[in-house]
Amino acid sequence: MIQFIQDNTDTLITKLHGAESLNIVVTTHHKPDGDAMGSSLALFLYLKQLNHNVTLITPTDYPRFLHWMPGHNDVVVFDFNEKKCKTITEKADYIFCLDFNDLKRINEYGLVVGSSKAEKIMIDHHREPSSFDNYRFWTYEASSTSELIYEFIKKCGHTDKITAEIADCLYTGIMTDTGSFRYRGTSSNTHRTIAELIDKGARNSLIHELVYDTNTVLRLKMMGFVLYEKLEILEAYNTALVYLTREELARFDIKTGDTEGFVNYGLSLEGIKLSVLIVDRTKLVKMSFRSKGEFPCNEFARDHFEGGGHKNAAGGQSNDSLEATIVRFTEVIKLYKDQLQ
Ligand code: 5GP
Ligand code: MN
Repeated sequence: MIQFIQDNTDTLITKLHGAESLNIVVTTHHKPDGDAMGSSLALFLYLKQLNHNVTLITPTDYPRFLHWMPGHNDVVVFDFNEKKCKTITEKADYIFCLDFNDLKRINEYGLVVGSSKAEKIMIDHHREPSSFDNYRFWTYEASSTSELIYEFIKKCGHTDKITAEIADCLYTGIMTDTGSFRYRGTSSNTHRTIAELIDKGARNSLIHELVYDTNTVLRLKMMGFVLYEKLEILEAYNTALVYLTREELARFDIKTGDTEGFVNYGLSLEGIKLSVLIVDRTKLVKMSFRSKGEFPCNEFARDHFEGGGHKNAAGGQSNDSLEATIVRFTEVIKLYKDQLQ
């Protein structure tokens, strides 16, 4: 069983079950990953079965390797449909906020959500939530938000409404957020949930293939380039560092999600405790941090790069140039020499 740190959804569930045709928005963080999309699509498909008017709005687009997911064609992307998203959000009775805990994580759409009269529900597994919500289904002791959505549907008494499509979505979210069931957040509850999802029709083996074995030749070549030419080891700090310039992103035609997973390669090296990927995106410099053991990536990201996340996996950003960001990183890492040894 998952122990919730905060769960005040009893009255919410009564309201969801006591009416039909409520206007509901489900949203998730910008550049959604497998868990963000898996949990959101699953909740979207579930709430539609309760005969509500449900819209899934993502702040931005998401990786191509998630486009096969059930419900993908119904997703409305805020970046491409601002006016429509504003209208729908203003009309909403409820907004479910999944896999994030601060409106900053949904970019400009955060202003629209923040000013909406709708009641907001946070379902999330990240630490240190900020308070923009009316209802909360929250603990950081869950592998993924998808695992929490399974718990939420169970709490609603509706596991019978978990269709094979919903099972596919939840399986995808749990699989991607646990690194295929290997990260620390993976519990016996995670495995029991996965077993139940397979019983409900999740196509487990196919999903691994659809998510992980749909590389393009160019992307695979870029991985070779990154590992051969771009991997730097900061030996004094047991840290692996890769940065990618805009020219390199253009050379390999990098799209949303194409750099997903790169940061993990550094961590596969014996003795490496911290791996960092720095990418020069159009609007800002985006950073990914991964650690083995006790080094708190989330605190590091929060204290130096306006970010956050989990202890062993976090992200951040910088408004400085790529060069200045790398210099700043190599300076602040010096403060952690003891922790990284
Ligand atoms: P990734 O490196 O894959 O983008 O993100 C790793 C983890 O850190 C995810 O759980 C993600 O939600 C979180 N994360 C990534 N970027 C940010 C950020 O800018 N701010 C915060 N608070 N969390 C982030
Ligand atoms: Mn997640």
